[in-house]
Amino acid sequence: MYRTNTCGELRLANLNQEVTLSGWVQKARRFGGMIFVDLRDRYGITQMVFNQETNAALCEQADALGREWVVQVKGIVAERSNKNPNIPTGDIEIIVSELKVLNSSEVPPFTIEDETDGGDDLRMKYRYLDLRRGCVRSNLELRHQMAFATRSYLNDLNFMEVETPVLIGSTPEGARDFIVPSRMNPGEFYALPQSPQLFKQLLMVSGFDRYFQIVKCFRDEDLRADRQPEFTQIDCEMSFVEQEDILNIFEGLTKYLFKSIKGIDLPDFPRLPYSDAMRLYGSDKPDTRFGMTFVEIKDLTTGKGFGVFDNAEYVGAISAEGCANYTRKQLDELTNFVKRPQIGASGLIYVRYEMDGSIKSSVDKFYDSDTLKLWLDRAGAKPGDLLLIICGQKEKAQKQLCELRLEMGSQLGLRNKNQFNCLWVTDFPLLEYDEELNRYFAKHHPFTSPKTEDIHLLDTHPGDVRANAYDMVINGVEIGGGSIRIFDSELQRKMFSVLGFTEEQAQAQFGFLMNAFKYGAPPHGGIAFGLDRFVSIFAGLDSIRDVIAFPKNNSGRDMMIDAPSTVSQEQLDELHLNIKAISK
Ligand code: ASP
Repeated sequence: MYRTNTCGELRLANLNQEVTLSGWVQKARRFGGMIFVDLRDRYGITQMVFNQETNAALCEQADALGREWVVQVKGIVAERSNKNPNIPTGDIEIIVSELKVLNSSEVPPFTIEDETDGGDDLRMKYRYLDLRRGCVRSNLELRHQMAFATRSYLNDLNFMEVETPVLIGSTPEGARDFIVPSRMNPGEFYALPQSPQLFKQLLMVSGFDRYFQIVKCFRDEDLRADRQPEFTQIDCEMSFVEQEDILNIFEGLTKYLFKSIKGIDLPDFPRLPYSDAMRLYGSDKPDTRFGMTFVEIKDLTTGKGFGVFDNAEYVGAISAEGCANYTRKQLDELTNFVKRPQIGASGLIYVRYEMDGSIKSSVDKFYDSDTLKLWLDRAGAKPGDLLLIICGQKEKAQKQLCELRLEMGSQLGLRNKNQFNCLWVTDFPLLEYDEELNRYFAKHHPFTSPKTEDIHLLDTHPGDVRANAYDMVINGVEIGGGSIRIFDSELQRKMFSVLGFTEEQAQAQFGFLMNAFKYGAPPHGGIAFGLDRFVSIFAGLDSIRDVIAFPKNNSGRDMMIDAPSTVSQEQLDELHLNIKAISK
C-alpha cells in the first residue's frame, strides 16, 4: 500500500498513529542532527523529521533527497514543538522510520511554490510542473466544483446532457472558423463548432425539451487575456419557454453556484434594457459595482461659442466623487489615457466643483459659472467632485467615456474583486449595420427571434428591431448570453433575406434547419455561459488562462507540446491540399 493517508489530512487527533505517506519532496533542510523534509501531494504538505542520533542510516538516505523526488515514508505522528499556523497540518510532524525513493527528479526549472521564480513562458513550457503549484491547482479545483455543481443543478431540473459533433460544417456568420480538411472527401472541409447552436435547436425539434452540455467551442479570433481559441461553454436550450423562464432558471443557476461554492447570497438580478445600458454606461456589459453613470449635457453646452461642443453629436459627462483636488498632472494623465489610440478620444474637458462652492473648468473662456453649475447639477455633483466630459460622434464618445469611467472606478478603488454585481442586459437590437460591408449582420446570431411587436419594422427600419436576446453580466464581464429563437421556417427565411442571403445561399447553408422547422418545431430558446470566464470571476482573476489546465499563449500556441506544428508532405498529399510542406 503506497499510503494510509494524504499529505493534507493528519492533525493532533492522529498523534502516535503509524502512517504511510507518499508524495513529492517540496524541500529538505538540515539543522544540526535533524533533517526536515516537507512532503507534498494534491491535498497538502506534511513535515517529515529524520533524527541523526536515532537513525543515522536513514539520515544519510534523507540527505540525498532532491526537490521533487517522489518518496514513500512510514513513521509515527508526533506533536511539533515549533508549530506552523499557516498550514492545516502545521501542528504535527512524522518521525520517519522508513524511507523509500519511488522516483528521482531533475532539478525543476522553477520553484514549485505559490511565489515562483518562473516566468510565464517557462511555466507554460513546463505546465505539468506549474500545475503542481497549489495556487494553480486550486483554480482547477474551483473549475471542477463549478462544473459539477452546474451539472447537479441542471440535472435536478430535468436537463439532459447530450454530446453534439465536433466535426461540423463551416458557416459564414459569426467569428472565423477553424477548418479541418477531409481526407475521404477531397477538397472538402469540416469546421470546428463555434457553439453547438444549430444542434441544440435541432434537439428541441426532436423533443428533448431541456438540453445542456459543458462543451468545447472553437473560434479563430485574435487572442486577448480573456480569449482562447478553444474555450468551454455551459450550453443550454429549452422548449416551450419565454424569455422570463430562461432568465429565472439561469439566474437560479448563478445564485446556486455563488451560494454553494462561495457562500454568497445574491440579491435578484436587475434587468437593464440595452438602450439604457448604452445611455448610462456606454457599454452592453456595464460594471455596476459603482455608479458614476453618464449624463448627457449637449443641450446645456450649445450656442456659447465653443465649437468643439457645438459640432459634437454627443456631449457626455461623469462625476468623479471627491476628485476636485486632482492635480494638473493627474488631469494630464487622464487626458493622455483617453487619447491613447486604443481609446481614441480627441480630448478631455473637466469642471472642478471646489469644496468652497467655486467652480473652475478647462472651458472657463466659454462658459460662466451659472452654466457650469447646470452641468454639475445634472450629474448630481457635490462640492469636492470632478466632472469629466467627452464629446464626439455618439457611439464613439460613449465608448470612450465608458473606458474613462472604468479607469476612474479602478483609481478610486471601486472595483472590488470580492464584490459581485450581476445583472441581465435585455432587449438587444436584432441587427447591426456594418458600414464597410454595407449590410446588416445579426447582433447575436441569425436564429434569434425579433420581438413580436417589432417584426413589422423588419422591412422598413431593420435597425430599430429589438430581439428577444439577453446577456448575463457580472462586474463588467459578459458571462453568458442567449435568446428566444425563431421557430417558424417562414420567419427564418425572412431573417436570412434581411441578412442578405439569397434563397439558394440560405438553403445551402441552413437548409437542414429550415426543413426541420417544417416538422413541428416547438417554441424554444436558450443560453450559453462562458465557463472559463465564470471561473475566473469566481477566482478573482483577470485572465482565463489561469483557469484552463493547458492553455494557449497569445499567438494561439501550446508551448508545452509545441503546437501547431508542421506536418509531412505525405500527410498533406493525403489530404489533397496541394500545398508544399514547410520543414522547420
Ligand atoms: N450559441 C450562442 C453563443 O455561443 C448562445 C446561445 O444563443 O445560446 O453565443
